[in-house]
Amino acid sequence: MKSIGILTSGGDAPGMNACIRAVVRYAVANGMTVFGIEKGYEGLINGDIREMNGRSVSDIIQRGGTILKTARCSEFATEAGMKKAAESMRARGIEGLVIIGGDGSFRGARELFELCGVPSAGIPGTIDNDLAYTDYTLGFDTAVNTVLSAINNLRDTMTSHDLANIVEVMGRHCGDIALFAGLAGGAETILIPEKPISEDEICENIMANKKKGKLSNIIVMAEGAGNAEALQKVIIERTGVQIRTTRLGHIQRGGTPSMADRILAARFAVRAVDLLLADDDLKVAKVVGIRNNKIVDEEYSVALARTNKGHEDLYKIAKVLCT
Ligand code: ADP
Repeated sequence: MKSIGILTSGGDAPGMNACIRAVVRYAVANGMTVFGIEKGYEGLINGDIREMNGRSVSDIIQRGGTILKTARCSEFATEAGMKKAAESMRARGIEGLVIIGGDGSFRGARELFELCGVPSAGIPGTIDNDLAYTDYTLGFDTAVNTVLSAINNLRDTMTSHDLANIVEVMGRHCGDIALFAGLAGGAETILIPEKPISEDEICENIMANKKKGKLSNIIVMAEGAGNAEALQKVIIERTGVQIRTTRLGHIQRGGTPSMADRILAARFAVRAVDLLLADDDLKVAKVVGIRNNKIVDEEYSVALARTNKGHEDLYKIAKVLCT
């Protein structure tokens, strides 16, 4: 393959820019022509496409978000939308795509291949770490560090005032941000959708801590694990402990990418471009990922069918260290 397009789709994540830079520079170094597509699948349909070179990606490695912009596009999920997208690629001579996004973007990429024969390599870019086929997604490490920094700040105040706090973090249905930030931040309780804990047990924990003289508790709660305000009410009613709720929201999505995310961006980019470079028959429809610190690639369908990444080991450690 000699000519590729690159787009970012779905939610933005820190490290997307570092990844765009790596894709463009590595592909150009290997003799490819690279086109940047604005606003994900929407730009593909509308023909918002420009040629990129090494200079178009200078001074972006350290920036969060995505210079290509990102969007959610319902038209693309229709047959007519996909055909339009494939047509605007053909009009520019683009043979395949690098798609940086999450599971929805990968479903779209799989459909685009099955329906219109467009080859692509998907790179997992989402802070949620909610893709079971890869140990880590781009942006997760940075987001966890952002949450940790917020927990550190909150703890100063909470400890000084003997207050407790529920810190609600992102992750959709996945508890990884809460689990990793909770363990690394020394949270007293970690609430994740994969391991439901009853309100009784949460209150018992708080009461047990109170008996030990520990009045300042940090509860890290994944957004998919329930309603933080409702839980706050229950805790106040049943334990009498003063507890606040802090929803970190979109500050988790931005910020300069961590070293880990920048290195991951480069490694993902190289494998994705290599897949397309070697694809003379235009038959590649794969995602890249990382398992046990090795870069892997896998068909969209196989990768998307995987479930249960399971962080039993980390959860068990957190349970012991929380006490
Ligand atoms: P993410 O990629 O972060 O999971 P979304 O789920 O919003 O984000 O998906 C991004 C875009 O991918 C959607 O706006 C849509 O254009 C496309 N998409 C998602 N699911 C499908 C699907 N099942 N078929 C075709 N396109 C899809």
